[in-house]
Amino acid sequence: MNIFTEIIELEHEQVMVCYDRNTNLKAIIAIHNTVLGPALGGTRFWNYTSEETALTDVLRLSRGMTFKASAAGLNLGGGKAVIIGDPNQIKNEALLRRFGKFVQNLNGKYITAEDVGVNEKDMEFIHSETSHVTGLPVSMGGSGDPSPFTAYGVYLGMKATAKKLYGSEDLSRKKIVVQGLGKVGYYLISHLKKEGSTVYVYDIQESAIQKVVKEFKAIPIDGNKIFETDAEIYAPCALGATLNPDTLANIKFQMIAGGANNQLLDEERDGNTLMQKGILYAPDFVINAGGLMNVHTELEGYSKERALEKVETIYSNIEKVYQIADKQKVNTQKAAIYLAENRIQAISNLKKFM
Ligand code: NAD
Repeated sequence: MNIFTEIIELEHEQVMVCYDRNTNLKAIIAIHNTVLGPALGGTRFWNYTSEETALTDVLRLSRGMTFKASAAGLNLGGGKAVIIGDPNQIKNEALLRRFGKFVQNLNGKYITAEDVGVNEKDMEFIHSETSHVTGLPVSMGGSGDPSPFTAYGVYLGMKATAKKLYGSEDLSRKKIVVQGLGKVGYYLISHLKKEGSTVYVYDIQESAIQKVVKEFKAIPIDGNKIFETDAEIYAPCALGATLNPDTLANIKFQMIAGGANNQLLDEERDGNTLMQKGILYAPDFVINAGGLMNVHTELEGYSKERALEKVETIYSNIEKVYQIADKQKVNTQKAAIYLAENRIQAISNLKKFM
């Protein structure tokens, strides 16, 4: 494994490899960039097929967090952690608390939160060894589930995208496909139905489909025919990489605005394909930053009103991305990275005078 090649390429500040003999904890904490503030990002507990895959995942995810926080205008850096192993087999209190001690060793340079494989109860164990934790349950003074904030931000970003494309942010007569009906997808559909949109849905879990069909009169579609649906808007809210050469070959949607992370399999290639086809893509890390904005508010002393104020900035953040893309004639993903990197550079220059 060529650790330094990857770290140099992606420009990380620090990568901490954590091992504990007693609990057999194997974890990696990646701190990508702390120019804007402490590196915040969740801990993923996953049964990686190899140590290389775990390293690649944590490096890519932490870089994504830097961009997300920066484009959102937050004073946060980007970080992420992975714990290697099957959570159903090896997760226990001692292991999680040992991980908490490693987080504590970083003295607040890294702040952790929930991610795949780590739930609220696990966060309580981690929190017993470190205060550098966010996304705690409301009962513990935290900000609770970030998903409604993420979904609201996606809804606003979708309206901003519609404004750019159709000259009106009105979604009432739009046909919208939502793929992935978990926490984010569910709350997004509730906003869309309130506005009067026609919503087509698909999830790999039948129970998730039935729930939104019953509650919102959403229309179920065949998972193999998502990209053939006669609809203007596609909202990916499941896992990443649903935008790839296979799906983009015959894509008919006019715009893409959804909550999933890492929607493009290859940022450059697939971002360019969308641009060439005239499909307006709302970059994932800009449109889905509502949950991070909510969690960030927890660090200032939580207020729901303040969190919502921040989430509402997603509308203008998305507009900024489209302005940059138009001016520089680049795809919107590239424009979003430019927006994020530009802010980091500007604040970094400012720090020289402190
Ligand atoms: P979730 O686990 O609650 O829901 C995901 C849903 O997607 C599940 O119902 C699952 O069955 C479904 N799914 C998985 N693969 C699918 C496929 N191929 N086709 C259709 N459905 C599929 O997760 P969530 O919290 O709703 O997050 C959804 C996405 O948004 C993820 O990519 C996540 O990383 C991203 N995201 C979430 C938040 C948040 O606040 N929850 C914040 C930022 C980004």
